[in-house]
Amino acid sequence: MELSKRVETLTPSSTLAITAKAKELKKQGYDVIGLGAGEPDFNTPDYILEAAKEAMDSGMTKYTPAGGIMELKEAIVRKFKQDNQLSYSTNEIIVTSGAKHALYTLFQVLLNDGDEVIIPAPFWVSYPEQVKLAGGTPVFVSALEENEFKLTPGELKKAVTDRTKAVVINSPSNPTGMMYSKEELEALGKVCLDHNILIISDEIYEKLIYTSDEHVSIASISSEFKENTVVINGVSKSHSMTGWRIGYAAGPEEIIKAMTNLASHSTSNPTSIAQFAALAAYEADESAINEMKKAFAERLDTIYRLITEIPGITCKKPKGAFYVFPNVKEAVKMNGFSNTDEWVKAILEEEKVALVPGSGFGFDDNVRLSYALAMDELVEAAKRIKRFVLNHQ
Ligand code: PLP
Repeated sequence: MELSKRVETLTPSSTLAITAKAKELKKQGYDVIGLGAGEPDFNTPDYILEAAKEAMDSGMTKYTPAGGIMELKEAIVRKFKQDNQLSYSTNEIIVTSGAKHALYTLFQVLLNDGDEVIIPAPFWVSYPEQVKLAGGTPVFVSALEENEFKLTPGELKKAVTDRTKAVVINSPSNPTGMMYSKEELEALGKVCLDHNILIISDEIYEKLIYTSDEHVSIASISSEFKENTVVINGVSKSHSMTGWRIGYAAGPEEIIKAMTNLASHSTSNPTSIAQFAALAAYEADESAINEMKKAFAERLDTIYRLITEIPGITCKKPKGAFYVFPNVKEAVKMNGFSNTDEWVKAILEEEKVALVPGSGFGFDDNVRLSYALAMDELVEAAKRIKRFVLNHQ
């Protein structure tokens, strides 16, 4: 069967591919440590599970409005007010099947064939694929590692053409864990306003920050910024709810309405039970989040220390999310490999540690390590990577 042109170049996500390979080795009986995970390792907090059970028991198992139940939209409105000093009406919110589908739907309603979306590299693997699936063209702009992998206004300006429709900002970032300051966001946003470019602000890691840096939503900088931004967020990472598939978008009513219409013909609605679970997540205080955050912060300190002790590996210390993105160029060279992908493959085969090569994120000299796993496993993984590097010198 001839498949559509649209999916011709579509490849499976590199993070999922490495996870699959690690699982295969595990199945063969090997003691594999997977550092590829894109999800918190904690259970979803009990009070959220209880809310889901209650929703089922009370018959909340039917279709809901396409854009989500009103109670959840209202809770999201409150969340924006409290956390981001942003005032949205419920008409400016859509609840989606995960943040990923919020982005997918957004690109579908936004892009015509050939419209360009600027994607700063390193980037989360799904942005370019989703842009292409919507007929758009991803335009990659490599940020400098010296600048903590952050895009500068000058770099952004240079990438703008008369086809540029939007730019994606992801802070804290997957895969780098870096964050933009308010001043940096303001400078980038001004370029967008000057050139009539929509800002897509993916804030899914907002709750996972381990420094005193404050998360700033670019939409909150001014009303002009707000009118020119779609914020993407969700409960997957903050509340360890990746499998529940609840995310959302907030932005101009016209865009949200189009997204809701599209959802009505695609997903119909996000799972009813999961919506009630997400409502409970937002109605509770943040003590469960803070517990997870504390564990992540300790692991970050440990993995950062251990990984930077390895010869040939350097690393900017991340501020948020649950990834480190060290530069391994020297180690790869020192170990006699021609590229990072080969080096990563050899570490998996020899030491049974699964890393994600940076190539999938648009940065060939780096690897992504997730620290969403138990401390003893992290320590052991770092030990094995070190042994590999030293053994191949
Ligand atoms: N945005 C970024 C930067 C992510 O890393 C992820 C998940 O890996 C998502 C969005 C998607 O989150 P969700 O599970 O809510 O679809």
